[in-house]
Amino acid sequence: MAAAFIADVMLGRLAKWMRFVGHDVLYFREIDDRELVRMARAEGRVLLTRDRRLTEDFKVRCLLVGSERLDEQLEEVLSEFPPPEGASRRCMRCNVPLETVDKQVVKDAVPEYVYIHHSLFQRCPKCGGIYWEGSHMKNILERIAMIDRSIAQLKRRNRSFKEGDKRTS
Ligand SMILES: [Zn+2]
Repeated sequence: MAAAFIADVMLGRLAKWMRFVGHDVLYFREIDDRELVRMARAEGRVLLTRDRRLTEDFKVRCLLVGSERLDEQLEEVLSEFPPPEGASRRCMRCNVPLETVDKQVVKDAVPEYVYIHHSLFQRCPKCGGIYWEGSHMKNILERIAMIDRSIAQLKRRNRSFKEGDKRTS
């Protein structure tokens, strides 16, 4: 079964992007640490946090995110947890899997130039938000492809770090 996640309040943007690549990520703008940990445990979710204290104080499966930069954060998480094979993208707002819809269905819901120039549309069954392979999505997809490539590099780098540690200790 694919891992599911819950992100701490500092990781809202990371949560959205992870949803977009198909991960199940809960995120609340305001939630206290105990509640965060309680939900992670109750639902078997990996807690994503930037707070080292949280990872030390509570016994919960978590991943400490080191970087402040979104692209590096994505690298950190996706190198550990690659997007599930064949998973649908999820609504960045609602965390609900998107449905592919017929082009005619969205005719009145998207700008005319978008309707004319695009053929693949997906819709969130919860909020009705419509996603298409437009420039916004294309940028994201290119960035994710870039991240996929750098994950391979990152893994190699991590290996050499570990080897380096052994030498110095
Ligand atoms: Zn939605």
